[in-house]
Amino acid sequence: MTALAVPIMVHSVERALADAARAAEFGADLVEYRLDRVADDPSAATAIVEASPLPCIVTCRPVWEGGEFEGPDGQRVELFRAACAGARRPAYLDVELAAFRRSAELRRVLAELVDRPDGGSQRDTGLILSAHDFTTRPADLLQRVAAMADEPLCRVIKVAWRARSLRDNLEAFELLGQAYKPTIALCMGEFGLASRVLAGKFHALLTFASLDEQAATAPGQPTLTELKTLYRWDRLDAQTRVYGVVGYPVGHSMSPPIHNAGFDAAGVNAVYLPMPIPPEYEHFKATMTAWLEAPTLGFRGASVTIPHKEHLLRFVRERGGRIEPLAERIGAANTLTVGEDGGLEASNTDYAAALDAVCEALSIGREQLAGRRVAVLGAGGAARAVVAGFAACGATVVIYNRTLERAKRLAKEFTEGPGKVVAASWDKLCDTCCEVFINCTPLGMYPNVDQTPMPSEGEGAFRGVGPGVVAFDTIYNPMETRWLREARAAGCVTIPGTAMFVLQAAGQFERWTGRDAPIEIFERALRERLSRGPSA
Ligand code: NAP
Repeated sequence: MTALAVPIMVHSVERALADAARAAEFGADLVEYRLDRVADDPSAATAIVEASPLPCIVTCRPVWEGGEFEGPDGQRVELFRAACAGARRPAYLDVELAAFRRSAELRRVLAELVDRPDGGSQRDTGLILSAHDFTTRPADLLQRVAAMADEPLCRVIKVAWRARSLRDNLEAFELLGQAYKPTIALCMGEFGLASRVLAGKFHALLTFASLDEQAATAPGQPTLTELKTLYRWDRLDAQTRVYGVVGYPVGHSMSPPIHNAGFDAAGVNAVYLPMPIPPEYEHFKATMTAWLEAPTLGFRGASVTIPHKEHLLRFVRERGGRIEPLAERIGAANTLTVGEDGGLEASNTDYAAALDAVCEALSIGREQLAGRRVAVLGAGGAARAVVAGFAACGATVVIYNRTLERAKRLAKEFTEGPGKVVAASWDKLCDTCCEVFINCTPLGMYPNVDQTPMPSEGEGAFRGVGPGVVAFDTIYNPMETRWLREARAAGCVTIPGTAMFVLQAAGQFERWTGRDAPIEIFERALRERLSRGPSA
């Protein structure tokens, strides 16, 4: 079983032990005491190890390896002796490979303090040899791993480096797969989360999680709560399937809480991760290819968002996969599904989500959309999917856009019916007589929450809202925009962007699992995430 270890930067014995007690309470298996700042007080090391509520790793990381200790190796030797001086001993001492190679004194003292993995002594303390690179993947990574593997005193190999892309996680998994000593292989930074969340799937000795965001000791380290609650650490195993949201940036995506909660509620052995991929197609292609071909990863699908929706179509086309006809027509896909046979499918769940949101609000079937007059505000990516969906159902769609030319170009793409699509200039919006209005502009989106596409008073005031009219805002942050608030007050049927967001996620869940999506769980997870703050 892969252990969950919480690093604690020690400032005082009392605070460190209190933090360790919190870590134990939250379900950690191990703590790492970082003694970088108290290295001049060996008695602190003895006291902490003696009273630790969890088995522990003792580390004193020098500045030259990304830590805060600035003294000589001799001082660390005293610290390690003190840590092992009490009746209770640390489970591990962690020493950098570079220091171990350089200092004969360090090697001699460690040989007295730790057990050799091949038996003999019974000191109950093992040696972790470690190598960290906070800037990139070190060119000699494999040589370092080999040196640790060959060192008789080394019980655990630890390597951590800043990932250059999502692909670096795969090398960490390979190292874990090939290891013949217990190994920790972790990637740092925005691209490295997968190596941390999936450490258990690949039988790492441990992964690190911080007590809170401020307490992280490496960039990209998740918190204990994220790992346990959001990513369901205790449920993941070698069979866990991997999904994610591909985009750039994806740090604030609402999709991970929704899909992970959905997998949990439905008892699906899967995890859903943020997957940042830089904007160029070459990055997208190289990363997706590597993740799909990684033999034991189990990468089975992705939500795809800006700027990669067009890239997904091109990628699946190049690999001979299946493309949903309407996604092809829209020119963008938001869902990748990997079949049991490895075949790829690109589809678009945005348009269906928009259609279903309106049909549910009006209690009608899709066929009853034929002939209805629908105003779409905006002519960007979201508008394309909405226009395509309503046109396919036979509605009459009027596209209002700030840049009229763009609206005309979009309308022209859907002239073949069955619906009718026309373009109109933005200033005609106040006089329109449509019965469904769909805002696909960012007007009113956080942080510009006072904006509205349809002012209710003053010059250009919108006169068309009222009972019987549907006002659908695709914006979901905030949950209720100014426009929706005013439309609701005027008696409209209102549909928030959260409805579309949840339904597009539901379409993805159903494609990936073959089961109905737990919509209420999705709604609750989204509400909970959004209620943490408008910028969450
Ligand atoms: P986009 O491709 O950048 O298009 C933005 C559109 O809004 C363009 O037509 C643009 O007009 C128009 N626009 C921008 N600023 C404007 C302003 N100040 N006044 C008038 N028009 C303006 O963006 P997108 O990807 O389509 O996203 C648009 C909205 O859809 C976002 O707010 C997003 O939250 C929402 N969305 C929601 C979901 C969901 O699941 N609920 C899914 C996708 C998107 P020009 O052509 O003149 O530039």
